[in-house]
Amino acid sequence: MTTASRSRAPAREDAPDRAGNAIPFVDLQAQRARLGPALDAAIARVLDHGAFIMGPEVGRLEDRLAAFCGARHAIGCSSGTDAILLALMALGVTRGDAVLMPAFTFVATAEAAALLGATPVFVDVERDSFNLDPETLAAGAAAAEARGLRPVGVIAVDLFGQPADYDRIERAAEELGLWLVCDAAQSFGASWRGRAVGGIGRAATTSFYPAKPLGCYGDGGALFTDDDALAETARSCLFHGAGADRNDNVRVGLNGRLDTLQAAVLLEKLKVFEDEIARRNAVAAAYSEAFAASGALGPPRLGPGAASVWSQYTLRLDGIDRAGFRARLAAAGVPTAVYYPRPLHRQAAYRHCPAAGGALPVSEGLSEAVVSLPIHAYLDAEAQGRVIDAVRRAAA
Ligand SMILES: *Cc1c(COP(=O)(O)O)cnc(C)c1O
Repeated sequence: MTTASRSRAPAREDAPDRAGNAIPFVDLQAQRARLGPALDAAIARVLDHGAFIMGPEVGRLEDRLAAFCGARHAIGCSSGTDAILLALMALGVTRGDAVLMPAFTFVATAEAAALLGATPVFVDVERDSFNLDPETLAAGAAAAEARGLRPVGVIAVDLFGQPADYDRIERAAEELGLWLVCDAAQSFGASWRGRAVGGIGRAATTSFYPAKPLGCYGDGGALFTDDDALAETARSCLFHGAGADRNDNVRVGLNGRLDTLQAAVLLEKLKVFEDEIARRNAVAAAYSEAFAASGALGPPRLGPGAASVWSQYTLRLDGIDRAGFRARLAAAGVPTAVYYPRPLHRQAAYRHCPAAGGALPVSEGLSEAVVSLPIHAYLDAEAQGRVIDAVRRAAA
């Protein structure tokens, strides 16, 4: 078992028992077999040169990542969660600040703001895209002000690999005087109307958790920005607040570096990433074509000009009991996952945080209706056919 043992975030669900003929939810070994000895050699080179912290592979990876998405700066760091934390630290987020974000997301988005003493303020999402609904931002800012908080920024999340509607979000954020950070943990490699994720927002963050579209063999993440000053502050923050050198500490920071070994792994994986994105899109297209005619299965809808990396393929069940649907699929050897069964404003740790308009009906409805199917770059035609047949039967 390569991934963590508990289901926490998209693509974190354990692969099901490989015994029998169950389809794995995520298959990391197929990619490893494809990359072959090059991956082992990349790891061996790091073991030989011994620069485990800030070795040459880290800088090389940062250059490649920046070139890949067109951002001026790419900064490798310890996880997708720490990437958000570093972005907010560099933006100076602090106590009394309110950070607006969708309630229908993985908890890390809210965690970063809360750890800095700021208050997450939850806004709603759009039913078709699962992404932040810009129409709810003004109500979010008002809910924050009603509590005596200072709205400072928005974190948009590209849920399941599809970029949020950045034209409208940027406009709404600007009108409210808020900065925009893109939580692209699930969407690195995607684009919005020709703009690559990573190059949108004051900063964007991603995750290299093993089962994310571009995953390493442990924890890792990156932060992207075009802002030189922000990049410099973020780099300082991830290295204990270092100033001119590592013995000069000019701010409170953390140990947030990306391991050289993970950078070496990612350099190899980047070589096949474009091809893997194309393969994920082919699987998603086959699913969406098969499910389009069913009124009860709401296939994910892409916004105009959105290209997804399909971190997850998530259906919205309409009038079908989800537990029964999942049980029928499981019996057919098709694992499913629910991202996310409870929106953040309903979680014990965040219940006290304001929600736009006091209620978030779309987030609440989706949390009861969504189900994600197996999708990865190496899901072959036979497995896709099995998933499609099983879904059709389970929905009948
Ligand atoms: C995975 C994920 C994160 C956190 O990434 P880690 O690398 O696991 O810390 C943050 N936000 C979203 C939306 C995610 O899916």
